[in-house]
Amino acid sequence: MDKTLNNFSISENLQIIRKKINEAEKKSGRPEGSVKLMAVSKFHSIEEIKSAINANQQLFGENRVQEAKEKFEELFTFSPNIELHIIGQLQTNKVKNAVSIATCIQSVDRIDLLKEIEKQCSKINKNIKVLFELHTGEESKSGFESPEKLDEALKLCADNNFPHIIPAGFMTMAPFTENQTIIRNSFRQLRETAEKLQKKYPQFDLSELSMGMSGDFEIAIEEGSTLVRVGTAIFGERIAN
Ligand SMILES: *Cc1c(COP(=O)(O)O)cnc(C)c1O
Repeated sequence: MDKTLNNFSISENLQIIRKKINEAEKKSGRPEGSVKLMAVSKFHSIEEIKSAINANQQLFGENRVQEAKEKFEELFTFSPNIELHIIGQLQTNKVKNAVSIATCIQSVDRIDLLKEIEKQCSKINKNIKVLFELHTGEESKSGFESPEKLDEALKLCADNNFPHIIPAGFMTMAPFTENQTIIRNSFRQLRETAEKLQKKYPQFDLSELSMGMSGDFEIAIEEGSTLVRVGTAIFGERIAN
């Protein structure tokens, strides 16, 4: 594992990924700049994240709220323009801190979570974006079990149950496999679900499709991703602490 990464290699990695994103956009006939790059900084230090910020990276993702809060309270002071999304499975008792630091919760996987997000956001009078996570892979356990369950959640939003919540799109994680057909099918499943639900709920802009990570973001872009979540390819391997 390479923990010798210096600032230079983080900015270099970002350049390489941005170039690959542009190429994948071209290849799939999509406008340049239509795919956003999120830097997934979980397990990585404030210093490493600052290197990414210095290389013009503004959007970050973390999946553990406590760790994110400790790091980003300092980082928001360092650079007020950066933005943080929560991308990991979120326990109800972490929602309060999550909504205080994030502009989007990408990993909404149950109706109870929407209720708690609404409750905590109403206390601090903050509106927050959410993405609905769909379970599309055999092995992964996170996400709504089916498009029907996801539809139920959106119906509650449409009925004005959650005035502080802005439904903004969908998220998925492809199965951990080398099999590109399985990965592609997972992304395709999310896009098809998104298209159906967008038609059904025209009052919302559900255009965000968060899919693709270090190993599969090019396939995800070909399948319509608007936001790729890249960690390892930017910061190097994660060392669990
Ligand atoms: C860790 C993580 C990523 C980034 O994974 P890499 O393979 O390191 O790019 C993306 N999405 C989610 C939800 C994650 O937890």
